[in-house]
Amino acid sequence: MNFTQFNLSNELLHAIEKNSYTKPTAIQEKVIPLVLDNEDIIAMAQTGSGKTASYILPILEFLSNNRDEAKKAKIKVLILTPTRELSIQVSRTVESFTKYLHVKPKVVTLIGGESIGDQLFSIQQGCDILVATSGRFIDIISKKQMNLSHVEFFVLDEADKMLSLGFEEELDAILEAIPSTRRNLLFSATYPPKMQTIAQKITTKALHVEIKTKSPLVDTIEQRCIEVNTENRAPLLRHLLKENTFTQVLVFMANKRATDNIAAKFRKHGLKADSFHGDLTQEERNYTMDAFRAKKFSILFTTDISARGLDISGVDCVINFDLPRSPTDYIHRIGRTARAGKSGVAISFISHDEQAHFKIIEKKCNVSIKREKIEGFELSGEEPKKTKGSAPIKGKGKSKKDKLREKALAEAKK
Ligand code: AMP
Repeated sequence: MNFTQFNLSNELLHAIEKNSYTKPTAIQEKVIPLVLDNEDIIAMAQTGSGKTASYILPILEFLSNNRDEAKKAKIKVLILTPTRELSIQVSRTVESFTKYLHVKPKVVTLIGGESIGDQLFSIQQGCDILVATSGRFIDIISKKQMNLSHVEFFVLDEADKMLSLGFEEELDAILEAIPSTRRNLLFSATYPPKMQTIAQKITTKALHVEIKTKSPLVDTIEQRCIEVNTENRAPLLRHLLKENTFTQVLVFMANKRATDNIAAKFRKHGLKADSFHGDLTQEERNYTMDAFRAKKFSILFTTDISARGLDISGVDCVINFDLPRSPTDYIHRIGRTARAGKSGVAISFISHDEQAHFKIIEKKCNVSIKREKIEGFELSGEEPKKTKGSAPIKGKGKSKKDKLREKALAEAKK
């Protein structure tokens, strides 16, 4: 199949070609015709599958056919995403497709950490497509200064992540602010039970789209697991960076402060590293992310804030310096590499304590990964013995949230 088989304008086809998309991805093959056919969609697609274009292209086709050039733009599309970076990324994707359109829809990004006044001003100058994080969107609704009565498309991108950030509580206010007759497009990597509840609130007529794969991960990711003592992880990482020719490396850690500290240490070792986490100001976040995208440095230490949706094509290695809490987080983290058909490697460091937890991740992700030892960094000491009735080890026992996440993943895989 190719893009010319969809009912898309020549201008959009030109933009698709300029974006170097030669063939639609599986999700695009399914979703684009359905959205062009006015259907509501609930789509489950693995991370990096090309879902952004699957909703943006038909929406842009709709806007091109329904925009009166002489009149001021009206907000016709509302796209909500879980993180500021994802909102920025979606807006950029929209802009990459509008370049060659005769009438270019105006896109405004509403995210926290930036001036509300400036954002309202941009909307008042004319806006067709709003891309927002839900928190900032709610803040702006309460100012009652934007007209949402023309919204025709409501898109939730990475809806499962939004749920984990408290979106359920915000949903009623959002649905009240937009027209009840609208088209709804929900995208989610997983479909936990809570999602069914919110999906029901949003739409009752959606078609479900699922791209079935044996493992929820793309097979171009080489998954590795290296056994190492906790205190040897940083030297091992430096060793791996020296031995391999990775271009851009994303290193996931559990703790914000630790990302700052280790990035500083790596810089002292002459490596180009920086850190990225939720305690940075928005300006710092934008600066760091743009610098990483532009390959101004090659190693980014980060928390799970970067695990979702981020699309940096040069990332060819993901390191789980600390293991993720859940299999779902594992899927999202390692999905930051091997984007759009490229290959990449994901390396998890595990110590004695983490063997059992990693086994759960493997089981849920339907993979079995060989344990590796690297000379000079071999695991020493003994695996702690489990004593019956002993208190659970902090961070080792599954939390209620982990159990729910695992259940959701299991449901999603059925
Ligand atoms: P997404 O899942 O929307 O974040 O997209 C992941 C990556 O795939 C992005 O870098 C897109 O630019 C790229 N992409 C999406 N669709 C295609 C396609 N049909 N051909 C090539 N690359 C694509």
